[in-house]
Amino acid sequence: MEFDVPKAKHWIKILNSKIQVQKNYLTDLDLAIGDGDHGLNMARGFQEVINKIENKEYPDLSTLFKEIGMTILSKVGGASGPLYGTAFIKASPIFQNKESITISELAQAFNASLEGLKLRGRAQIGDKTMIDVWEPVVTFMMEQGDSLRPNDLAQLAEKTKEATKNLEAKKGRAAYLGKRSIGHIDPGAASSCYLFKALANVLEG
Ligand code: ADP
Ligand code: MG
Ligand code: MG
Repeated sequence: MEFDVPKAKHWIKILNSKIQVQKNYLTDLDLAIGDGDHGLNMARGFQEVINKIENKEYPDLSTLFKEIGMTILSKVGGASGPLYGTAFIKASPIFQNKESITISELAQAFNASLEGLKLRGRAQIGDKTMIDVWEPVVTFMMEQGDSLRPNDLAQLAEKTKEATKNLEAKKGRAAYLGKRSIGHIDPGAASSCYLFKALANVLEG
């Protein structure tokens, strides 16, 4: 199983479609424990990404990831824009000059993304943020390496996203609600779940 520029583009395309369809759902999640813009932020940002990358040629994965990250950074405000932008930008050096990579290398790239996310947002696992999906999913990818089964990845993303419901928010806007944040899925965990499920979809195909 390999990951390459066409697969990466396909991944972002599937992800964007999902975000556009679920825009109102993501917004509803954010209305419950935030300011109600997560669906809008993600829909605007990823549509911009698609407009930019769709009909352009990329020599390697590094250039593509950098462009995705920069586009998100410049088009998406709030907490999620800098975080998702950082995730793509931090992954890009691992792909330097590579048109195609193994799943183990992809896991390393996501691990660099995760480190970037944690440095930027200072959130720990259990704080009810996107980290609650990213950390277990990336750890699993690192452990499984080239024997990763995409369906297991998708299931873990789903399970960890659902588990944010029972957590009390310690970071981001939801933290202002304290215990009242319990009982709601974290919006960024939901969009991150889409990101990894779309990836699983492409790796399966
Ligand atoms: P904003 O909260 O600025 O309106 P969004 O609504 O787009 O931005 O994104 C909110 C999501 O960002 C949260 O659901 C959470 O997953 C994520 N988030 C917020 N703060 C942090 C943080 N410090 N570290 C990691 N993720 C965070
Ligand atoms: Mg918001
Ligand atoms: Mg906002």
